[in-house]
Amino acid sequence: MNKSTRIIHSIPVDELTGSISVPIYQTATYVQEAPGVNKGYDYARTNNPTRAALEKIIAELEGGTHGFAFATGLAAIDAILKTLKSGDEIIAVDDIYGGAYRLFTHIYQKFGIVIHYVDTTDALNVSAYLNKNTRLVWLESPTNPTLKISDIKTISDLAHNAGALVVIDNTFATPIAQNPLELGADYVMHSGTKYLGGHSDLLAGLVVVKDEKLAEELKFIQNSSGGILGPQDCFLVIRGIETVAIRVERQCESAVKIADFLASHPDVDHVNYPGLKSHKNHEIAKVQQNGLFGGMISFSLKNDTEEAALAFVTSTKYFKLAESLGGVKSLLCHPSQMTHKSVPREKRLVSGINDSLIRLSVGIEAAEDLISDLDQAFGKV
Ligand SMILES: *Cc1c(COP(=O)(O)O)cnc(C)c1O
Repeated sequence: MNKSTRIIHSIPVDELTGSISVPIYQTATYVQEAPGVNKGYDYARTNNPTRAALEKIIAELEGGTHGFAFATGLAAIDAILKTLKSGDEIIAVDDIYGGAYRLFTHIYQKFGIVIHYVDTTDALNVSAYLNKNTRLVWLESPTNPTLKISDIKTISDLAHNAGALVVIDNTFATPIAQNPLELGADYVMHSGTKYLGGHSDLLAGLVVVKDEKLAEELKFIQNSSGGILGPQDCFLVIRGIETVAIRVERQCESAVKIADFLASHPDVDHVNYPGLKSHKNHEIAKVQQNGLFGGMISFSLKNDTEEAALAFVTSTKYFKLAESLGGVKSLLCHPSQMTHKSVPREKRLVSGINDSLIRLSVGIEAAEDLISDLDQAFGKV
């Protein structure tokens, strides 16, 4: 069945009333007939029908068995980290999302978790760090903002041979382009704030697993720590998911055109986009992302200065200057002064974040309008 059809029909019709949209159960508790005698719901941190619907939908969308909805992407990451104990080691992709880096390094390190940041674009680099204490290999593919690709299948095999589990932050790829559980990963997580919500109007985090034991553990952590997603936002994420396939297909299609335009522009130094043949792991991306290369692009200017980048990012009309990504409206940002400002300049340069690097989140506007918007901004630099 076509993914779009499958998604639309994974969203349940309410059995009680026939309501075609999932009802918002705005409640904290549920009335019991006698102590412990209830309809499967006792307290809303533990379970809520609106959340349960979303969790089932995302599990199906990612090809897993159990889904979990959290207040934000970082709350979802935090829940996975709580499966670890002191002395456990993580091998993480070196240009990991900044918020994940902060959580790993400044919070979990002090509880005795050891983290190795590794260039995972070459799978062999992961092997060098695998040992008997390695519990998790943490990947993002594509990464933010340089769109690096790692080979999920190969790295999952290496990790499993060493007794470690694999987590994929699938926020950038989306479940439309990439289903990591089918490639061998054990956990897939999303910042639902981005493509799944799709309208830049909520924060959410999601985790999906395909293993009963991992699911039990996550359910326990979700209920114990309590970082759940509220019913209104569960409803909004479900509504976002209804259109995610059509949005992402459009965004990917436009991104290919925009990346080509940028790659041939005389003022552009280089373009990071997995869909370009010049991309280091283009061939891996092609297979692993079902031929969809994503809606995120970054590029740097020949005039590699902050001033040039600032002139550019303040001159676009349709690309709005903002952090975040994945919504229907196109956004752009200047990572070195925005999302990655806290990373020291030398470290930024090593991971490819030049002073003039500009990141685009392609929305659903017409590609030609977005291209002419970028074209006129080059004239302002
Ligand atoms: C935004 C983002 C997160 C964090 O999600 P929040 O919902 O903002 O907490 C994690 N990973 C990636 C790749 C992101 O883009």
